[in-house]
This record gives sequence, structure tokens and C-alpha cells, in this order.
Amino acid sequence: MSNDTNSGQSTPDDAWSIATRVVSQGRPLPAPGAPVNDGITLSSTFHAGGELDYGRVGNPTWTALEETLANLEHARGALTFPAGQAAINAVLELVPVGGIVVAPEHPYSGTRGRMHELAQAGRFSLRSYRAEPDADLTDALTGAHLLWIESPTNPLLEISDIEKLSQQAHQYGTSISENATGAIVAMDATFATPYFVQPLSLGVDIVVHSATKYLAGHSDVLMGAIAANDEHLLSLLHTHRTLSGAIPGPFEAYLTLRGIRTLALRMEKSVANAGIIAQRLSEHPRVSKVRYPGLASHPGHGLAMATTGACAVISFDVASAQQAEAIADSTTLWVHATSIGGVESLIERRARWPFEHPDIPAELIRLSVGIEDVDDLWNDLNRAINENS
Ligand SMILES: *Cc1c(COP(=O)(O)O)cnc(C)c1O
Repeated sequence: MSNDTNSGQSTPDDAWSIATRVVSQGRPLPAPGAPVNDGITLSSTFHAGGELDYGRVGNPTWTALEETLANLEHARGALTFPAGQAAINAVLELVPVGGIVVAPEHPYSGTRGRMHELAQAGRFSLRSYRAEPDADLTDALTGAHLLWIESPTNPLLEISDIEKLSQQAHQYGTSISENATGAIVAMDATFATPYFVQPLSLGVDIVVHSATKYLAGHSDVLMGAIAANDEHLLSLLHTHRTLSGAIPGPFEAYLTLRGIRTLALRMEKSVANAGIIAQRLSEHPRVSKVRYPGLASHPGHGLAMATTGACAVISFDVASAQQAEAIADSTTLWVHATSIGGVESLIERRARWPFEHPDIPAELIRLSVGIEDVDDLWNDLNRAINENS
């Protein structure tokens, strides 16, 4: 766990902007001849008597990444996991047997799949809510142990009022530990990243990331992370990681920290590109519906712009599932592949996935907008839409 700072650039949290801290954090102590970047520590065990003992408990390459993430999230500590799913699962394990989880109707398909699997096995019961800006969860949260927030949701891009829902969870939910009030609030902030929002400052207890996406940013690594302020929760999650064995590889941790160095540049560029493409799609005669929180017509526009930002994912509908598949198959610059958050732009028909909620329209196309030239992206997409509808 990374709540002690042994990296060199330990600056008070707010002294530098996040665009600086993505570059400066998680580096070795400055000394003549010392490396500027930490190496990749490939060791399953460590000499006895030190802080580190066994490689399943801790690793210096994880520490560099975890200290960086904790700094970016203004969190007391962060923990990394081998995938976003492993981080999500670690949080779900905090719920007592027979407890109650309140989750959005349409979260990320893997989150939904795992929650349903555990609910079906009798591990906990699940109450779902429609993620809308004015959602009131007073009833759903009564007696609940965990509130799950995802904002925007993937792929419908629904927006929640993070601050209000967190407050309701703490007021009406049931505590899992003596030093917490009400339900624990966990938020999947994969789409926004700490570049746009630090959910802990809005009342969230645990922020969860698929670091596979924007944090790592290059579609070459799977990684998950959590960050929190509550030492008790951090220690439970650390113990769970150690005992479940869901630990990241040091090479993947290194790649993720390397990716974070350019997070500010990539987020700025891909969100700017997405704004232009969403606007053009909304004026396209063959496109029936565009979901994008950066558009003034989006029901969560105001709330999103005040919290999570506009994001770089767009979803839109065409006339049929066949047309959606044909469009995704005929782009040359956009890569027909699942996932989001890499430098390269990706396109897919989302309902092709079995875990996806039946509410996701069969003709919905999800775009992950990358950092390429926006006109090259638009020309390729526009041609594919016009040729296939
Ligand atoms: C991809 C994704 C996940 C799962 O993360 P993995 O790293 O693929 O395990 C969770 N939440 C959201 C919002 C995602 O986009």
C-alpha cells in the first residue's frame, strides 16, 4: 500500500496542478547519478528485515504507481490490481454476506455481470437504480451496505449527481464498520480519470478505475486501481488483494505509470476531438440519436460539466444492427475493436456482447475517440456511415 511517500517529488498535494503531477510523481529520490525513472522490480521475495517481504504483498514498481494515483486522487492510499474487474471485485468483497448493494441499471457490462453472478449465488442482494441527474435513492439506500456509482455510464453515458447520491448513501445506508457512517460509496471513474474529477472530494469513499483505459492509455496493458482515504477500508482491500492473489505484474505497473505521464495531454486532445465529432454526428441525417455529455442537449450536461467533464466516449444510433456492424467493419482509421481510452480511436457495436444490458439498443455504436487528427477521424467515420446506411 502506498500511503507513505518515499518518492522524491513529495510536494504538498495542491501546490502543483494535475498536469504537472502526472509527470512529477512516483519517481526515485533525486541524487547525483540516480535514475529519473524507477526500474521494474522483478523479484518474488525480498531480504528479511525490511518493509517488503513477499512479492504478493508489495512491490516497489506497484508502489511508484500507487503513490502517483493516490496523489492524483488526493487520497490517503491507492492499490493496484491486475484488471479493472479485479479492483471492482475487491470492493464487492467488502459487502457482508447477505448485504445489500445498490447499483445503476446499466453499469459497465463486466460490473453488471459480476454483480448478478454474486447476487444469484446468494452472496448479496442487488437493488438497481436508473442513473439520471435527479435520481433520488432514499428508499433504495435504506439498509444498503454499498452504493455503486458509475458516471458517465458505459455505454449509455448517463450522468449521476455524485455528491447528492454519496450524501444519501451515508445518511440512509448501513455501515459495514464502526468508523464509517452509512453505506460505503464506490465510484467507477474510468471515463473521467483524476484529470477531470477526484470523486473522494465529492463524498465518495472508494474510487475505482479500469487503468487499462485512459490511465495506461495505449491499449497495451490491463490494470485496475482503487483509491481511498479510510485507512480501515484500505487495509481490508490490501488484505483481500494479498489473500486472493489478484496482484498486478510489475511490468504492467511500469507501463501504466509510463502512460500516466501523458494523461493530461491525451485527455485534453481526445475530449476536444470527441466534442467536435459528437457535434457533427448530431447534425448527420443518418444518425438518429447521439449520447454525449458535452452536448448541451444531453440531460446530464450541466452536472457533467461541473464534475466529470465531457468525456471522450460517444454513443450513437443508426437505423439497424446490420448497418452498425457494416459501419464498424468499413472504417479504415477507426479500429473495429472493443475497449476505450487508448491513443487510437475505436469503434464497435456494443450489443454484440452477451453481458450487455438488453436496454442497450442493438443499433448503438460506441466510439472511443483517440488523439488523431479530428478531420481524418471525421472523414473516415462520415464516409463509413454514408456508404452503409
Ligand atoms: C473496461 C472497464 C472496466 C473493466 O476493466 P478491465 O480493466 O477491462 O478489467 C470497468 N469499468 C469501466 C467503466 C470500463 O470501461
